[in-house]
Amino acid sequence: MQSEVTIHDKTFVPFISAEKIQERVKELGAEINKDYLDKRPLLIAVLNGSAIFMADLLRHIHTACEIAFIRVSSYQGTESSGKLKNILGLTDDLNGRHVILVEDIIDTGDTAKYLIDEINSKNPASLRFATILFKPAALRQDIKPEYVGFEIDPAFVVGYGLDYDGLGRNLADIYVLKS
Ligand code: 5GP
Repeated sequence: MQSEVTIHDKTFVPFISAEKIQERVKELGAEINKDYLDKRPLLIAVLNGSAIFMADLLRHIHTACEIAFIRVSSYQGTESSGKLKNILGLTDDLNGRHVILVEDIIDTGDTAKYLIDEINSKNPASLRFATILFKPAALRQDIKPEYVGFEIDPAFVVGYGLDYDGLGRNLADIYVLKS
């Protein structure tokens, strides 16, 4: 782990080591194996941030499962409602499926809430949320992710899939903005 990482104009310091992340992801995989035995879950990863978590998590899932990848795009609406969101890539039939949404981080919970509502409208048999990081203090939606890697304070972090302005996703450890 590097003692400091500079990305663009900002400096980040070590926060969660790759070793700790890997241990925790293995535990989450074990929980999912137990909860979804013979249910053939469909894991849906939300790109780009969750690509690395998804790949690591899948290697610890030993029950039969399927995978899909989606993106959430934000665009300015023409009405006063302001920002609208849109899911790209959700082509699978979710009717009767056991869906696990895989995210990098839940901050305000706005993205998660939007995804939960959209996916629930497609009649899955069940829907749960897995996220590597969760900032409970920043949450403003009534949601509770079932599989959480680490609960953290609301500071800005990078690494393990998370970026700062496009960079830093490839760091194996998680770093936090130096105060
Ligand atoms: P929410 O909708 O829960 O407020 O935000 C979710 C999204 O905000 C995440 O998928 C991520 O892209 C971004 N985000 C929130 N907190 C952080 C953070 O600490 N670091 C980075 N890199 N992205 C974050």
